[in-house]
Parts: sequence; C-alpha cells; structure tokens
Amino acid sequence: MSDGIATALKDSPDQEQPIRLSGVALPGSPGRYDLVVANGKIADLVPSHATNGGVVTPLFADVHVHLDKTHTISRIGSQANAKVECLFDAIALMENDRPNWTAADIRARAGHALETAYRQGVGAMRTHIDWVTPEVPEAWPVLASLREKWKGRIDLQLAALVRGDLVQVAAAAIAQRVKQDGGVFGAFFYRNADLEAKVEEMFVLAREHDLDLDFHVDEGLDVEADTLSVVIDATVRHRLAGRVLCGHACSLTQRPAADVERILVAAAKAGVALVALPTSNLYLQDRRNGVSPRLRGIAPLKEARKMGMTVMLGSDNVGDAFYPYGDYDPLAILRLAAPACHLEPEEWLDSITRLPADWCASSIAAPLEKGGRADFVWHGARDLGDLISRPQAQRIVYRGGKPLPANNQDWRNA
Ligand SMILES: [Zn+2]
Repeated sequence: MSDGIATALKDSPDQEQPIRLSGVALPGSPGRYDLVVANGKIADLVPSHATNGGVVTPLFADVHVHLDKTHTISRIGSQANAKVECLFDAIALMENDRPNWTAADIRARAGHALETAYRQGVGAMRTHIDWVTPEVPEAWPVLASLREKWKGRIDLQLAALVRGDLVQVAAAAIAQRVKQDGGVFGAFFYRNADLEAKVEEMFVLAREHDLDLDFHVDEGLDVEADTLSVVIDATVRHRLAGRVLCGHACSLTQRPAADVERILVAAAKAGVALVALPTSNLYLQDRRNGVSPRLRGIAPLKEARKMGMTVMLGSDNVGDAFYPYGDYDPLAILRLAAPACHLEPEEWLDSITRLPADWCASSIAAPLEKGGRADFVWHGARDLGDLISRPQAQRIVYRGGKPLPANNQDWRNA
C-alpha cells in the first residue's frame, strides 16, 4: 500500500477499523472520490479534493476460460513434436495430453488457476469443459465440486463444450446432465457437415431443458465459415434472445464489410452476444511455419458494439497448447486489446467487469456504491490510461472489505 493512500480510521474497539481510500479515480466517473470501507461494506463514497489516490475498479469477470486444459503446457512442451502451427495442431497436442487428465490432475491445475484468478481480482468466471465422447468427462464433476468450494469467492459457471460432430449422437443425454448440474450448454463448430441440423439440435435441447447456450464459432480464417449466422437465425426462431453467447468469430475478419455489417446487425437484433479472445486468436490465427502473421483474426469488436451487440473480452486458454502464456488477468487482456483492437479502455472496461459478470449470472462485479459490498480492486496508477500503460502497477484486491495478500509469490507453486 502506498503511504497516505489507505488510512485506518479510529472507531469503537469492538468493530473493525474502517479504511479510508482518499482521492481515488473511478473510471467512468469524473473527478476523485473518498471511499470508506467498514464492516465489509462501502460505508461512504463521496467526491474529494484529494488527488493521486490511485484507481479503483470493480472486480473483474471472465466469461470464457478452459479450466480443464489449463497449465498443461509444461507437459506438452516437453514433447519432441510439440509444434503448434495452427489451431488443429493445438487440438492434436491437447488430445495427446488428455490421458493425463485424471480427477486429481484436473483438480490441481484448475484449482491453481482459480487461486490465480482470485488474486488478480476476478469474481466471476465461466469455464468451458471439453465433451468429446458421449460419457461425462472426468473434468465435469471435478469442476462442479470446485464451483462449490469457491462459492462466495468466484461465481463459477460450467459450460459443456460438446464436439460439433458429437451433437447428433449424444447431445440429448449431455443436455440432461448439464441441466441437472446447473450448467450452460455449448458446442464447438467450424465448418461441420450438417451444420444447420447440429445447431438446430442444440437449440431444441436448450429450449427443452431451459438452458443458456455458448458456442465456439468460426475460429479460423476460412471466409466460408459462418456458423455465427446459423446461430443467429436459430436464436430468433427459438426466441432465446439474451441467452446465446458466441466466442471467436474470427472468420468475420475475412468477409466483405457489407456482409459483416449485415451479420452484426442481425446478431444484435437477435440478442446474440460476442466474446473475443485476443490472446489465443493472435497466437493461433494465420500461424504458418516460418512466416510472420498478417491476418490477426480478432472479430470486429468496434463494429459489433456499434451495431448494438453485447461484446466482451475473455482469457480463453492459459498455459496450454492453444496459448502457452497468460495469468488469468482480464486487465492484461484489455491492455492487449487497446492496441490490437483499437479499444478505448474507458469505454471498454465493462467488457472485463460488468458485462461478463452479468453473463455469468453474477452480481459480484457490480458498480461501486455506498452500502454495497466492499469488493473491488485498487490499482497504484494515476488514471486508467496510466494503468493500461504500466503492467507492473501495484494491485490490491479487496474482498468483503479486506485486502487480500499480494499474489507475487504464486509462481513458486505453479
Ligand atoms: Zn475457448
């Protein structure tokens, strides 16, 4: 904590000492504020003449991660043939590693990821879980038990990621299990045969079991890949506005502007939301042996938001064959997207806070207000631009009014 930033105030001995954060900036609200925390709540939040008090943001939320695959890269990277030149190489390498995914292995890796995210200030998360054969994957019950273990710290949602070609074989039973365990229903589609029928089956089952939907769509640069349009049409037909999320949509970057506009307008009207995954897209798209990338593959976020879509940013893969880096830090994703996608941080902070929290059905990243729970992140920076500029800016996560211990020793346990 910087000197003079947080001050413990005297109070009656039987109560916790209130903490005053003076002169903090709240992105989206002009001026400076004094923020007083007492008994786990925001006791006061008033305009202030003090300056240089740091920046306070809501907690972060991450609506698209893969806790079943995470932190496998050290295993995968030690193999002699571990070379990723495209998405499908990454898929093949993950398949090679899958026999190692025992319950204990998954619990250890996913647990470490949750701990890391929590220390970064994440309060809500949706994890996809690969569903590649009709049987319930080992990871599903493990993540369900971690969801219980982490209740109150991270609101964790489980989303079934059914292999597209498994849909007509096994999706009915999968949907039943997803419903039973309070999950989200989803699939990975990329130019599959009988695509319309497979998407339709997902929607029929979602309606039957009253499930939200989450699809990986068009994660590639083939101009013909347009699952997004099929999903949009189905969303309208089945009246599931506000309950369908699509991730990636990389192939939109290859389509003529008029097509893009038509698709995005239709998506907004249908109530389909979009989550972009800049790290894995930049890492995998247009990846060719010995050739520098030119096509970057991140969906046109500015246009999507302008047309009225809900647009969010997510971490996607962390420490696996799809993306060997990452630290479950949504702020790092926004920091990357500022130059990569030309996003203004002030306008897009909600893409890593309120919007993904809403989609995770969590109120944990609510805007700060007097009387609300004192869950927020304090950053040692002059303003949001300064925070984006300096990845090493000090960060203190407050949960229930108490600062969490610093997380900079975590690397030893990885
Ligand atoms: Zn993903």
